Amino acid sequence: KILFDTRPKNERADFFNRDKEIEELKDILKHNDFAAVLGIRRIGKTSLVMVTLNEVKDEIIPLVINLGKIGSEKKLYPMETFSKLFLEGTSEIIKKYTFAGKISRLISNRLGVDPKDIIDLNWAKIKIKLRDFNTQDVNEIVRGLDEIADDNKKKLVIFLDEFQNIKRIKGFDIGSFLHDIYEWCKNTVLIVSGSFVGVTEEVLNQVEAEKPFFGRKFFKVYLERFNEDQSREFLIKGFEEEGIKIDEKIIEKAIKLFDGIPGWLALFGRTYTYSVKHSHNIEIKDIIKEAAKQVSKDFTNFLKISSSPTRYAEIILSISRLGGKGRLKEIADVMNSLYKEEIRESRLHDLLSTLVNYSFVKAEKRGIYSLPSDLPTRIG
Ligand code: ADP
Repeated sequence: KILFDTRPKNERADFFNRDKEIEELKDILKHNDFAAVLGIRRIGKTSLVMVTLNEVKDEIIPLVINLGKIGSEKKLYPMETFSKLFLEGTSEIIKKYTFAGKISRLISNRLGVDPKDIIDLNWAKIKIKLRDFNTQDVNEIVRGLDEIADDNKKKLVIFLDEFQNIKRIKGFDIGSFLHDIYEWCKNTVLIVSGSFVGVTEEVLNQVEAEKPFFGRKFFKVYLERFNEDQSREFLIKGFEEEGIKIDEKIIEKAIKLFDGIPGWLALFGRTYTYSVKHSHNIEIKDIIKEAAKQVSKDFTNFLKISSSPTRYAEIILSISRLGGKGRLKEIADVMNSLYKEEIRESRLHDLLSTLVNYSFVKAEKRGIYSLPSDLPTRIG
C-alpha cells in the first residue's frame, strides 16, 4: 500500500526505480559538495532527498526548509516568512537531538523569548520578535548548528526544497547565506531542489557570479520522467500491492495520459484503488480534472517567478483559443491579433521551449504545440 501513497516517500522500498539517483546524491554528500536536485513538479525530488537522508540518518542532522510552503497569494513575501520556515526546521532539530539545547538558547537570546517558546514554536510570542530577524541571524544559527553537528561527529545537511521560491522572499540575502556556509561551515552540506529548472539555475549562477564558490560547487542531479515501460511496471506493482485487478486497457490509457510523471501515476493509482474498494464509479477523466486543477495552480506559481509572466499567460490563452493545439506560426498569429505588443516567432519559440520544459505545454510531432489534459479551461 505504499507506492500509491501521495505524500513524499521516505524509504527506498517505496520509491520506485531511482536507485541510481539515490547513489548519486549520496556520493555528493560524502564528498561535502553541494547538490541541486532538478526536475519538474511531482517527479520525486522531495522523495529523493528524504529517502537519501533517511539512509544516512545516523551520520547527519537534517535541517529541512520547505520553500514550497510560502504560499501563492502574493508575488513577494517578507523575510519573516523565511524566518518562520527556518525556525520550524530548527525546532525539529531541537526536539530530536538533546544536544541541540544550545541552539534553542541561542535563538531565544536573540529573539528575547523563552527557550521553551522556541521549542514549542509559540508563534503568539515569537511572531512580533521576528520582524528584525535577518539573514545575519540565520547565518549565526546555522554556524551554531554546524558546530554542534561537528561536536557530535555528524554533518549538518540543509535542504532547501523548491529553492526557486527564494526569489520571492524580500530581504533575504541568499548570496550571504550560501557564502557564509561556504566560508564558515565546513561541516555543512547544502541540497536545493528546483522544479523550475531554469529559474533555479539562474539563482545559483547569479550567486556564483557575484562571489564564486571556488572549491565547493553545486552538482546537479536530474530526475527524468519514467518511460512507458517504467510507468507500466510502477502501476502494475502498485495495484498488486493493493490487491486490485485492473483492466490492461485502463493501465495503457493512464500511461499515455500521465506521461511518466510519478506523482500523477501515484494519484491515479490511489484514486482508482479507493474507488474500486468502495465501489464508486470512477472515470479517468475525473482524475485528469483533479490533476488539471493542480497544474493550473502550478502555472500561477510559475508566473510569479518568471520574468515574462504576461507573455507566458498570453501563449497559453492563445493555444487554448486554437482549441488546445497549434503550430508556432498559428500561435504567433493569434497573439498578434489579440495582444498589443507584437511577438517575433524566434522569441515565441524560446518562450514555448521554456513552457515545454516545465511541462505546461507539450511539443507534439510535426511542430505542433498542445496543452496537456484540460489545462486551458482551468486557466481561462
Ligand atoms: P517533487 O518534490 O518533485 O514535486 P515528490 O517527491 O513530492 O515530487 O513526489 C510527488 C508524488 O509522487 C509523491 O506522492 C511521491 O510519493 C510520488 N513519487 C514520486 N516519485 C516516485 C517514485 N519513484 N516511486 C514512487 N512514488 C513516487
